Amino acid sequence: MATSRCPCASLVRMSEYVIGLDLGGTKILSLCVDREYNVVDEDRRETEADSGPEAVIDRMVASARAVIERRNVLAIGISTPGPTKTFEGIVTTPPNLPGWKDVPLAKLISERTGLPSWIENDVNAGALAEHRIGAGRGTKHLVMVAPGTGVGGGLVLDGKLYRGASGGAGEVGHMQMDPAGPRCPCGRFGCLEVLASGKALGETARMIAANEPDGLVAQIAEREGEEPDARILDLAAEQGDEAAMGALIQAGAYLGAGLTNLIDVFNPEVIVIGGSLRKSAIYYQTALSRAKPQAFPQHAADVRIVEAELGDNAPAIGAAIIAWERLAGVRNQGTTQP
Ligand SMILES: [Zn+2]
Repeated sequence: MATSRCPCASLVRMSEYVIGLDLGGTKILSLCVDREYNVVDEDRRETEADSGPEAVIDRMVASARAVIERRNVLAIGISTPGPTKTFEGIVTTPPNLPGWKDVPLAKLISERTGLPSWIENDVNAGALAEHRIGAGRGTKHLVMVAPGTGVGGGLVLDGKLYRGASGGAGEVGHMQMDPAGPRCPCGRFGCLEVLASGKALGETARMIAANEPDGLVAQIAEREGEEPDARILDLAAEQGDEAAMGALIQAGAYLGAGLTNLIDVFNPEVIVIGGSLRKSAIYYQTALSRAKPQAFPQHAADVRIVEAELGDNAPAIGAAIIAWERLAGVRNQGTTQP
């Protein structure tokens, strides 16, 4: 008599997952993601960035382990802020994370969890997530632009995350829009980021409040007990403050010009706009009104400009997608990764 196989065997086989582990300036997020990219479990905790890299990495490992204890996890994709040596798994100099310099994060997380791990810049990971399951699904060529504190960007070309020769592609915030413009922390003058970011608008808001102590910007800031920033600038503009409106229109026009450049350089099917600044209607609508009309007519006809769909989870989901694709042998990387 042949040995019969228990009918429950297939049920016993555990479902498989990966973790998308997002390292942010204020929070650490582990999303447990299945093969269809559904989020089935998560762990959130504070980054406590001031405690330095070792303590932060301890918390990242603890967060991942919390999920690993509950689920059958195969690998970890990590999204990190700022510049990375993606192919070597090294986080170079992330903004808002004091003490970090050339940390081999992928190796450290892998050693301490026993799972294969890869890192990716957070905006790149977000762009990939929007391409696979968000606002850009079904397209081949996507450009992501995220005006928030800075202006981040990511490129998905021919269906793959485009990282360039060493992993640094997609720095749309550092397109030089005006060589005679203000100095950017990157060392150049007039980058999109110093003309159209939340940080830049915050400086303008503080300047307006100082110049017009009785104006709306200063009043709203005082009422809310906060330093003037881009959000307060927007509130003042919505109530008719001319200086605030002018600042948002000017910044929106620069973003629009940046989008025009991207439309003509990449001829994408979709530009996905992420970042918190798109919530400012004056800024965002100004950018939209300028972007396509200035582009080559055929390129303008080819492209949709849409808002991101996945919200704050996008980088973690994108990192998880990278882990799944790496496990499947899919190469999203640029030209030099082994
Ligand atoms: Zn710059």
